[in-house]
Amino acid sequence: MIDLDGRAALVTGASRGIGRAIALALAEAGAAVAVNYHERADAADEVVAAIIGAGGGAVAAQADVTDPDAAAAMVKTIAGELGGLDILVNNAGIIADDYLMMMKPERWREVIAVSLDGAFHCTKAAVRQMMRGRWGRIVNISSDAGLMGDVMRAHYAAAKAGLLGLTKSTARELAGQGITCNAVAPGIIATDMTADLDEGRADAMRGLIPLGRFGGPDEVAPLVVWLCSDAAAYVTGQVISVDGGLRM
Ligand code: NAD
Repeated sequence: MIDLDGRAALVTGASRGIGRAIALALAEAGAAVAVNYHERADAADEVVAAIIGAGGGAVAAQADVTDPDAAAAMVKTIAGELGGLDILVNNAGIIADDYLMMMKPERWREVIAVSLDGAFHCTKAAVRQMMRGRWGRIVNISSDAGLMGDVMRAHYAAAKAGLLGLTKSTARELAGQGITCNAVAPGIIATDMTADLDEGRADAMRGLIPLGRFGGPDEVAPLVVWLCSDAAAYVTGQVISVDGGLRM
């Protein structure tokens, strides 16, 4: 049994999809969870209500993670509300498919700003809190795209590959402080992000997955919870895929 009782966690982009599943699973393991959202306060409130309804502790936390000041202010507020911050899951991310030759520089920047810059801003702020207790867990939600590349997703794959460098550097720099940092690389997970794949492409992708299907957010969350636990104290700087065998 994983026991995160007494731990305070922040999950970015947690109002839906994989982030939502991670927030619910961390809370089920006993952590008090800050549910970060950018625009959808109603969806974040629903996640908070579900956690509280199940007997857990949660607060909603609005911030655009691309804004360093907003990220820092959010972390400070959460630490005040939850009595510190022990766990950070950098989950927020966007895609905006475009061929490399057509990709506008603004699009490139936008995608990298959320996945990579956002993780940096939140990590920088959270680490200050974690160092106080000399215990911390950071999990960055990367992607198989960061390991394999992806058509029409040069920006996304670059951001997700960049996250791996951030993960390993954070792991090395903070190991002495009792803080671990790992990356989880999902394959194709059924969420809003993948909902508008056309059937032809979806079928072709399923054909590449040894387990023959897309995953669900609930199949990513348990690994994240484990990485956030004491059981994973000797695991840091790793990249673990949850992808039905897509990348092996
Ligand atoms: P999603 O679109 O449902 O969730 C993304 C979340 O990020 C949303 O809640 C969104 O509001 C939030 N977000 C976007 N910009 C933000 C910002 N500026 N500040 C704060 N929050 C912001 O998609 P998902 O599939 O649940 O994706 C979650 C993470 O998993 C992403 O990082 C994504 O890249 C990664 N991932 C997803 C898949 C997949 O197949 N679904 C595969 C690999 C990796």
